[in-house]
Amino acid sequence: MTTTLVPYDEALGRYEPVLGIETHIELGTNSKMFCGCPTAFGAPPNTQVCPVCLGLPGSLPVTNQAAIEGIIKIGLALNCSIVEWCRFARKNYFYPDMPKNFQISQYDEPLCVDGHLDVEVDGRTYRVEIERVHMEEDTGKSLHVGGATGRIHGADYSLVDYNRAGIPLVEIVTKPIEATGAAAPLVARAYATELRELVRSLGVSDVRMEQGSMRCDVNVSLMPSGTTVWGTRSETKNVNSLRSVERSVRHEIERQAGVLDAGERVVQETRHFQEDSGTTTSGRSKEEAQDYRYFPEPDLVPMAPTREWVDDLLGGLPELPAARRVRVREEWAVSEKEFQDIVNAGALDLIEETVQAGADASAARKWWMNELSRRATEQGVELTELPVTPSDVVRVSLLVTEGTINDKLARQVFDGVLAGEGTPDEVVEKRGLKVVSDEGELSSVIDEVIAANPDVADKIRGGKVAAAGALVGAVMKATRGQADAGRARELIIEKLTG
Ligand code: ZN
Ligand code: MN
Repeated sequence: MTTTLVPYDEALGRYEPVLGIETHIELGTNSKMFCGCPTAFGAPPNTQVCPVCLGLPGSLPVTNQAAIEGIIKIGLALNCSIVEWCRFARKNYFYPDMPKNFQISQYDEPLCVDGHLDVEVDGRTYRVEIERVHMEEDTGKSLHVGGATGRIHGADYSLVDYNRAGIPLVEIVTKPIEATGAAAPLVARAYATELRELVRSLGVSDVRMEQGSMRCDVNVSLMPSGTTVWGTRSETKNVNSLRSVERSVRHEIERQAGVLDAGERVVQETRHFQEDSGTTTSGRSKEEAQDYRYFPEPDLVPMAPTREWVDDLLGGLPELPAARRVRVREEWAVSEKEFQDIVNAGALDLIEETVQAGADASAARKWWMNELSRRATEQGVELTELPVTPSDVVRVSLLVTEGTINDKLARQVFDGVLAGEGTPDEVVEKRGLKVVSDEGELSSVIDEVIAANPDVADKIRGGKVAAAGALVGAVMKATRGQADAGRARELIIEKLTG
């Protein structure tokens, strides 16, 4: 069946999208969810496995406490209630990369319930309600060899790597996200972005979408404008970049509008997002919960986190991204736009550390956002990769406030620090970069400059004070930028017209 896509604005004129997002996040624990195997990314295939995560007969799982701590932190940061008692459940299905033929997950008794996360799009706040956050384990990975696409179709044979099988996985499920209208793709992206920032701030996962430690399943359905009965949804699986989350929602709206306009039904199915074309293609028809034959996991005791433990974890949460944004914007007095630029440049932490180490906020912003960002771009590296530390920036701005160097010399100091010539003070010393503040020394340089430029000097004597600029330039050149240009100008005019 080929569907004619409906142009986005036209689709939004007739239909209202409803979203739902399920996000899987691998926790960065040292060992797996139910065994002691290590979890390092990129190890040679099948070197991080044992009888438990290979599902060998007689092996028994033991719950990883650090993982439970991690999921409770995520639940609390998402404003969820942490239940007093819950169990794991077996989700039964056969898949080659799942050696036990079932996944230990949670079904009707999730650990965290009823939260929310606020996201901002174009100055408007959308509250995304969280249905549940539950604990489960990851599957292994299949590698399809031969064939053009890397997919199973057309492959000569397949290999399986079980290193990832059993890595702690947290699943975060939203309630239906309604009333976003045309902003739906941006709201979906903003939610994924905010969730990633939130989890990163907790330090429980590296949340790298490109490495699969965070993956989004994006549900989209349409209902005719003015009605309130949800349509049938599609589920685009394992979307692995923020941009793709946005594009997949946009495409599904255009596609489903075409299906509905043609008088057909949207099929409930999983779909795959194709990065190259920006479209989704049909996967498998979606199983219902009953197909999984869920039942309580008999090999594990129930979980009953104590109130004290949960309160301890709550008390230990770091400042969360939303609160930090508000605080920082107020403290630094920056506009929303400027703040976004700072975030996008990856400079937020650096500037904050610089301010905490004693620099003035505007000076810290100026050096990181102008001078150092430009150099990072020139060298094609991240700002954090430059060999300049917040304390270097503090020292340079202090040298400027003290009058030891000016802004122009400060740039040369950064040149030196970047070139590995040492600390800012060592660079100032080695390169002889101090401002010439000694009046006598400045005065004699000016005399030399006047003597070397008699024509210009005559013009100034004749009243053309503007010509002094040329002599100031010559003084700056003679002092390699170390003179105070304003003072030099005053002295030149004084000498020639006074
Ligand atoms: Zn293992
Ligand atoms: Mn899951």
